[in-house]
Amino acid sequence: MSLTAERLNKVSPSQTIAISTKAREMKAAGRDIISLSAGEPDFPTPRNIKDAAIRAIEEGQTLYTDVSGTPALRKAVAAKFGRDNRLDYKPEEIIVSTGGKQVIFNAMVATLDKGDEVIIPAPCWVSYPDIVALADGTPVTIPAGPNQGFKITAEQLEAAITPRTKWLMLNNPCNPTGAAYTAEELKALTDVLLRHPHVWVFTDDIYEKLVYGDFKFATVVEVEPRLRDRTLTMNGCSKAYAMTGWRIGFAGAPVALTKAMDKLQSQSTSNTSSISQAAAVEALNGPQDDVETMRQAFERRRDLVVSMLNEAPGIHCNTPEGAFYVFPSVQGCLGKTTKAGKRLETDEDFVLALLEEEGVATVHGSAFLFPGYMRISYAAAEEQLREACARIQRFCQGLN
Ligand code: PLP
Repeated sequence: MSLTAERLNKVSPSQTIAISTKAREMKAAGRDIISLSAGEPDFPTPRNIKDAAIRAIEEGQTLYTDVSGTPALRKAVAAKFGRDNRLDYKPEEIIVSTGGKQVIFNAMVATLDKGDEVIIPAPCWVSYPDIVALADGTPVTIPAGPNQGFKITAEQLEAAITPRTKWLMLNNPCNPTGAAYTAEELKALTDVLLRHPHVWVFTDDIYEKLVYGDFKFATVVEVEPRLRDRTLTMNGCSKAYAMTGWRIGFAGAPVALTKAMDKLQSQSTSNTSSISQAAAVEALNGPQDDVETMRQAFERRRDLVVSMLNEAPGIHCNTPEGAFYVFPSVQGCLGKTTKAGKRLETDEDFVLALLEEEGVATVHGSAFLFPGYMRISYAAAEEQLREACARIQRFCQGLN
């Protein structure tokens, strides 16, 4: 009998973490490495949020809370959904979990039976298909390349729906592409969903606050309130408030679903950290100036990275609407040989050679189910980004 369960064979360890680990090892060995592979803001958590956590410790808010989160936090989340998204969720329709990731995990494990299908637009965050598979579901990907702005169309969605479709999983703005759907684009998708009442929508809005230019963020139930009874709206503090380590994710959903998720969470982690919850109340209810400062910094970096990458021969980079990633094509570099003599057959060859030869860590597109591309996180200081892009240009110029 093998030690590990068969279930575990359905998932692979996160490839983004694998590259970050390799980059860290090279750095520890004394190499000059610029890491653009991580999915987290490079800013510290804002001062007022840290202070709220310290106060919570001093005041003794250090014991178990309700599984679904403290009343104060659920109230703050309901207020956030009302204020930012014009959504009306009652506290019992809110669940707080250990990061957005646990919200996804809870929702899938609580609802999927063997063979249930989950539609996932690709490129996608790699945890989606793995979590669906762990929950015994079947991920069904819809490819959406740069020619369609990395967004699926209504026709593609219609064609992917079957009687076994349980969920459409949307990520808006998207990791890894940064693409975000306008209200009109979302409406085209929700019109399709109205015709298929058995399909639920999971909308992962965790990058909501990070949109640029005159792009206006919109979420599913906001554009189509008739989908409220079969939509889970997920969000969290990780990306907007530079709080990845605090582990706060949350969702608004119909009570039948939040109850089912609460039941599952009560037998796994119980509540997320009481201290993090107190900090999250301050994040949501307190001043939002730091969010805007970070957003503006990300926008400047996006513009810098897109323009420098497009000067590298063989690279083509769209300008994304949001998040802190770009997802350029490296197809023009494949089939070539690096200065050090490495032949680049795949996107993975490309990112590994770029790491070895120029010390820039990125993630290959295949890790997001979209070969021929790479993901660059621009959550790094401007000078570092400038230097990294100059190295990428040099690397590409050296190919033949
Ligand atoms: N959803 C997307 C699209 C993400 O990129 C991430 C983190 O990388 C998460 C969810 C998970 O967020 P959390 O750290 O709150 O679990």
